[in-house]
Amino acid sequence: MPAAVPDLSPAELARYSRHLMLGEIGLAGQRRLAAARVLIVGAGGLGSPAALYLAAAGIGTLGIADFDRVADHNLQRQLLHDHASVGRPKVDSAADRLRATNPFIRIVVHPEGVTVANAVELFAGYDVIVDGTDNFSSRYLNNDAACRAGKPLVYGSVFKFDGQVSVFDPAGGGPCYRCLFPEAPAAGAVPGCGEAGVLGALCGVIGSLQALETVKLVAGFGTPLRGRLLVYDALNQNFQTFNLPRVPHCTACGPAAARGPLDPARYAAACAPPVQAVSASMSEPEYPLEISVAAARDLRRAQPDRTVLLDVREPYELAICRLPDARAIPLREIPDHIGDLPRDQHLLVLCHHGSRSLRVTEYLRDQGFAAVTNIAGGIDAWAQEIDPSLARY
Ligand SMILES: [Zn+2]
Repeated sequence: MPAAVPDLSPAELARYSRHLMLGEIGLAGQRRLAAARVLIVGAGGLGSPAALYLAAAGIGTLGIADFDRVADHNLQRQLLHDHASVGRPKVDSAADRLRATNPFIRIVVHPEGVTVANAVELFAGYDVIVDGTDNFSSRYLNNDAACRAGKPLVYGSVFKFDGQVSVFDPAGGGPCYRCLFPEAPAAGAVPGCGEAGVLGALCGVIGSLQALETVKLVAGFGTPLRGRLLVYDALNQNFQTFNLPRVPHCTACGPAAARGPLDPARYAAACAPPVQAVSASMSEPEYPLEISVAAARDLRRAQPDRTVLLDVREPYELAICRLPDARAIPLREIPDHIGDLPRDQHLLVLCHHGSRSLRVTEYLRDQGFAAVTNIAGGIDAWAQEIDPSLARY
């Protein structure tokens, strides 16, 4: 990957001997690891195992970006820090631990964290970015900056007992995070920013997988999770992998993607307090702008011929879960299908959490459809309140 590949000292050769024995890594691969520059964004639940394994693996320059300080409730899963480091900046606690783990590598701290102002330039100085952040605004910021810097982003996320891993690498031909989720869920629609619980060891699984993918990318062996999403269900001990198509007109990695500085307005809202999504602009009083999943189910049962369920999620999402009687048209293809949609039936629009479907509902009303209603909470609420057999993601 990088041009200058350093020689390894006898002490380093001894330290990394279990890597050197692997034909897929060997001396050449270990030297690539030593020459690599990897940035870990977030020294928390995912960043901890990722950083520890990458330091031990001999990544030559390991950057740690985090603006936060260690709190006692972090210690349940953030293994870079210990009881004595509560109150210290996380980057300092992490640097001490990683230097103790491997004195042959360089640790660079970025105590300001990743911001809209510094992200693209910061990422440009590294070969691989590891996303260990825990909220949507940071994820979109990391994705958009990595796209602009042309660097692979090793994505991981955890929620309660579920985890996801992928490699977003448009420069290598794969999709990005916005190909997967074009926009952030409605503010308040998804718990994030530390308000949902998470199993500590789950972070170990996902963060370790991120380290593993990073080592593969740098040393150049195996098949990376580029264009695939690994979904882990810790409750039932189940891994599944879904293919992720690249979206041709993606706003982050497509040909028309914005260049230049990032727009701060795009990354501010995802952690804001919940907002009331229902507006007063109804075309007709008998068709509300938004209804609950229970009300949507009751309408479908009462008037199966007069209602149409319209699922506007992406194909890979349909592969995870879908309602059997729904008609599927992804959000971005809706404008091309205006002529196919019935105007004499009541359209009930569904997505993952209710944000994209609300946009489609408002769009169709602007196009003259009177009988269009958003299903609040989307298929995730459907899975929670109506049909627990549906897979959640
Ligand atoms: Zn994209």
